[in-house]
Amino acid sequence: MTAPFAGNWDAIRLIVFDLDGTLYDQRPLRRRMAFELARDALASRQTKTLRTLARYRRLREEWAERNLADFESELREAVALATSTPPDDVAVLVSEWIETRPLRHLRRYRFAQLAELFAGIRRSGRTIAVHSDYPVAAKLAALELEADHIACAGDANGVRLKPDPSGLLWLMERAGAAPHETIMIGDRLERDGLAAQRAGTACLIKSRRPIPGVTTFRHFDDAVFAPLLG
Ligand SMILES: [Mg+2]
Repeated sequence: MTAPFAGNWDAIRLIVFDLDGTLYDQRPLRRRMAFELARDALASRQTKTLRTLARYRRLREEWAERNLADFESELREAVALATSTPPDDVAVLVSEWIETRPLRHLRRYRFAQLAELFAGIRRSGRTIAVHSDYPVAAKLAALELEADHIACAGDANGVRLKPDPSGLLWLMERAGAAPHETIMIGDRLERDGLAAQRAGTACLIKSRRPIPGVTTFRHFDDAVFAPLLG
């Protein structure tokens, strides 16, 4: 890993946030969506939606290291094949259950102090970006947060799944920031932390437990953010 972030924000011009699990609490949302899926399976007396989405999530996770630029259509075809579902149906299920249905719940699970932090970052003249493996714009709007730049894997800019650094590199180029002026804030060391390391930027990982060699935080009003909230 790169050297742990020592809390010196002076050099930082670009702050890149991961989305899922970083800007909102993913666990209660997952429970809620699991409940809605189970209810759907009971009502329709079939588990196809459940099985197809489970396969999609698992494969997407496994494919993170495969480094494909246009993985989404290939991924949907692989899921279609594995679950004997037409590819178009996979696309509809993913759009409904992974992209659309969670949106209405997101705002209530947004982490505390984020609006204040975003406002503080803006006041300080720094740039805010959001970088996710999943589509960003609709979720960010649902969270009632705004970013100067967004990057999501599989979009037209050649951004790949984390831990590939392409998203960070693209955002730095857009923002005109060098690696030493950039920090990635995320909740997964093996994705966000590794992407930061590969891009040569600092990182901060949201974690309940300390991680050796990595600067972690629990809440957005932790001391490490104080210089941005002033
Ligand atoms: Mg995350």
